[in-house]
Amino acid sequence: MDKLFLYNTLTRAKEEFKPIATSPQDLTPALSLRRRGSAVGLYTCGPTVYNYAHLGNLRSYIFEDVLKRVLLYNGYEVKHVMNITDVGHLTGDRDMGEDKLEKGARREGKSAWEIAEFYAKAFKEDIKKLNIIEPDIWCKATDHIQEQIDLIKKLEEKGYTYETSDGVYYDTSKFKDYAKLSHLDLETLREGARVEINPEKKNLTDFALWKFTPKGVKRQMEWDSPWGAGFPGWHIECSAMSMKYLGEHFDIHCGGVDHINVHHTNEIAQTEAATGKSPWVNYWLHGAFLNIAGGKKMAKSEENFLTLENALIKKGINPLAYRFAALQTHYRKPMEYSEEAMKNAERGLEHLYNQTRELALPLLRKERAGVRSLAVIKKFKNKFLEAINGDLNMPRALAVAQELLKSDLSDEEKFAAILDFDKVLGLNIESAIKTSALPNEIKQLVEARENARKEKNWIEADKLRKEIESRGYAVEDTKEGIRITRVK
Ligand code: AMP
Ligand code: ZN
Repeated sequence: MDKLFLYNTLTRAKEEFKPIATSPQDLTPALSLRRRGSAVGLYTCGPTVYNYAHLGNLRSYIFEDVLKRVLLYNGYEVKHVMNITDVGHLTGDRDMGEDKLEKGARREGKSAWEIAEFYAKAFKEDIKKLNIIEPDIWCKATDHIQEQIDLIKKLEEKGYTYETSDGVYYDTSKFKDYAKLSHLDLETLREGARVEINPEKKNLTDFALWKFTPKGVKRQMEWDSPWGAGFPGWHIECSAMSMKYLGEHFDIHCGGVDHINVHHTNEIAQTEAATGKSPWVNYWLHGAFLNIAGGKKMAKSEENFLTLENALIKKGINPLAYRFAALQTHYRKPMEYSEEAMKNAERGLEHLYNQTRELALPLLRKERAGVRSLAVIKKFKNKFLEAINGDLNMPRALAVAQELLKSDLSDEEKFAAILDFDKVLGLNIESAIKTSALPNEIKQLVEARENARKEKNWIEADKLRKEIESRGYAVEDTKEGIRITRVK
């Protein structure tokens, strides 16, 4: 069995991944690729839906998608939960400033609820365009207010909270392992927190669990609670919802590196204090940032950020070129955005599609070389596994794909292997080679033939097939539908 190694921010080391649900005795050789009863619990912090996701956010979701696909490729079942932050994320990291949703609502002259719905939908469309597999469970903060209140009550009963004039706060000095994820001493953490000082907080690192609606103000999103009307702090939603869907102890929790020192640190403090159990999560994985030229991070608050739509789609670039670009950089290394980089990625992706398209031809011409001994294919599969299982080394995995394509394996073997690798790469290779690069006139002929077939006009359909073939394309009707490929 191949071992999977992942870099755990908690220990700052690459560790062998051992899922909670599978004990070694469950594993028999017959199960080597389908590890029974082993749904891995995966929680990924989702978007704050007050604006479009920018390319930086999307880089994090691509990294998490690759992680999930690698787990699936290794035979694990995965239960993936992603939240949608539609309330309570304030413009200042330290519980000061405005709620981002209410700010977005004012900016656009809509209600906070409309803003949340609109951008959540836009986000789901973006991830579809990037071929990111949807989570098994989406959960919105506003649908889980009661769970958050219950969790705060538990923390209150255990003596971890105190009230100020503007909310209920978590007393970080009561949780002895507060810095275990960040690995920073408390002094340094508190230095970092010194930007906005709330004089009523006992410690600079303390954070809001519940914020009160200020007197004389009517918020669009507010709820009753044992402490008064208001809304939950940002961090509490992830603790409450992840425990609801994945239990008090689960496998993996992810986000971008910016979440390490505050958001995830606070999530751990809340959850482990409430349950009295540790660890809550076994593996913490964090993706590095996408920067704009010059090392400046891309941030939603900058307002001039790049989206999938304005940086790629509007320019006629396939959005999957961005996924390809993201795969070319290891997820723990910063990635630099430039227009040139996107164009290069587009060329790289098109090249990969073309290489694969060529392979499909002999299969259609029936010049089948036959599948050689499995051992030869296995050699490449093992190299691929070694790359992806070495802390998701996707640049290496792409190099293995190129080695495979340039090897002396038969076209049929290469074709089968590359489609197998694409389960992890997620570049939609099979469907792309069926249609994407077809000239318009061929597309029209194909469409006309499909229509003729639907009408059972076989003579016309046959005539159109010959027309397509005379223009240098092979037509194959497969179980999955029609496949058109260029014949050299
Ligand atoms: P947000 O919608 O701001 O809550 O962020 C959603 C995700 O994007 C989180 O996992 C962040 O850590 C991540 N993120 C934010 N900015 C960047 C960036 N420039 N590069 C990569 N990931 C980012
Ligand atoms: Zn979170």
